[in-house]
Amino acid sequence: MNGVVALKKENHRHSLPEERKQTMAARLPWMDLAIVAVFCAVVLVSAMGVVDRAKPAVSVPSGPLILVDPGHGGADGGAVAPDGTQEKDINLVISLHVADMLRVMGFEVSMTRSTDDMVNAVGSTMRERKVSDTKNRLAMVEQADLTVSIHQNKFPQSRYFGTQVFYSGNNEASRELAEQIRANVVAQLQPENKRELKKGDSNIYLLHKATKPIALVECGFLSNEEELEQLKDPVYQEKLALTVACSVIQYDP
Ligand SMILES: [Zn+2]
Repeated sequence: MNGVVALKKENHRHSLPEERKQTMAARLPWMDLAIVAVFCAVVLVSAMGVVDRAKPAVSVPSGPLILVDPGHGGADGGAVAPDGTQEKDINLVISLHVADMLRVMGFEVSMTRSTDDMVNAVGSTMRERKVSDTKNRLAMVEQADLTVSIHQNKFPQSRYFGTQVFYSGNNEASRELAEQIRANVVAQLQPENKRELKKGDSNIYLLHKATKPIALVECGFLSNEEELEQLKDPVYQEKLALTVACSVIQYDP
């Protein structure tokens, strides 16, 4: 295999029910209210023990399957902040919020992982297990209609900060989803953020290989002291998650 993935333009795009698009489009201007409302719902439903992460909260037989992918996990901690905070843990918290929000809104959602583990990784060396983990994630991406992958960034110089969104160059839908996320991050969380979308190259295996729509969100830089504190803040984590969840709902290829 030479690694070239065929372009697919139309046949893998999902469409959301029209009434749901209209409802959610009207909701975004009241983002703060939406945060409160969604979280009240999530907290209430969770407290009642009703949320079953294996099933959607509301049955949507013909709806799209959305995959939420918390990067890294288990022995693969991902980037590590100066204070020892591991990327995998922040990825998981934000991803669980995204998944719960989408389920409460009636979507069918699955996750590559919902615990601190690699994804069914096999192999005798860490490298083999990471390859296995990534291939298992890709198989799940290809089964879903749309995927959002959640990661955290790190750079040697601490001055860099801000969310950056990557997309797969294998279909236009990925870029459109990424653009929706980028626009919402700027509108709702980071008005000064000038970071442009980036196409995932061969260094980002999932984006390089996926034929289904997928965007990868580097939520922020663990190497920036101020942003690290934000990324560890449960309220900021919820805001980031809601921004991503609303972007999935608004996404309209
Ligand atoms: Zn990562």
